[in-house]
This record gives sequence, structure tokens and C-alpha cells, in this order.
Amino acid sequence: MKINLRQVPAEGLELSENLMPSDLDIVSKEVVFKKPIEIKAFIEKGINAVTVNARINSEADVFCSRCLAACPTKIDKKFRFVYETDQGQEVIDLAQELREELILDFPVKSLCKPDCKGLCPKCGKNLNLEKCNCKI
Ligand SMILES: [Zn+2]
Ligand SMILES: [Zn+2]
Repeated sequence: MKINLRQVPAEGLELSENLMPSDLDIVSKEVVFKKPIEIKAFIEKGINAVTVNARINSEADVFCSRCLAACPTKIDKKFRFVYETDQGQEVIDLAQELREELILDFPVKSLCKPDCKGLCPKCGKNLNLEKCNCKI
């Protein structure tokens, strides 16, 4: 999501955009987005800085790192960035910040529940759902 600062009037500018995970380079095996990532941003221009108030909405399946179950997760996040702008700078790109905000939302190890028993390393059964007779 790029913002052309010349197009931001004194009273601010509202922008909305739908991005695909691939646009933000956040395609991963652990988090599969089921909808485009909807971004609404309000941009205000100061003398040496630009303030962006943004809200992200989407839905994703987050896979449990122990049992691999998909957990449908709603994403609704608000955040605020302040960019210092150099004289003459015309375009700022929000992609990096959006990516970080989205990735921060998903811990590397996400669990479907805190006490997830995971899969049996021998037979692969989901131990949350059934017991197996393997001796580990
Ligand atoms: Zn799990
Ligand atoms: Zn087993």
C-alpha cells in the first residue's frame, strides 16, 4: 500500500485497499488467509512527519504447531505509524509495517489450546481426539 503524499490534503486522506497475502509477502504454511486483507487507513500530514492510523481486517486459519488442526481466527487490528519524512519525499510504502503488524499477530508457535496434546510421534494420531497404544 503506497501513499502519494502529494495527494494527501491538509484535512487528511482516507484510503482503503484489499491486499492478498502474496502482495505483502506473508504467505506461510502456519497461517492461511481465507479472505483478502482489508486495510483502511487515515493519513495525516504534518510538517516533518506523516501519521497513519490503520485498521486491518481479515480471516485466517492458523494451524496448531502441535496437532496441525486449523483454528479459524478473525483478524481485527488497529495500529498507528508515524513516519518521519524528508523534504521532497513523495511516496511512502506501508507494506513493511503492515507485514510486521500481521506477522506479530501470529506467534511462531501457535497452539489450538494451551494444553494441546499434539500428535503421537509414532502413529500420528491426534491425541486430543483419541488415545493410542504406542509406548513412547
Ligand atoms: Zn493443537
Ligand atoms: Zn501412537
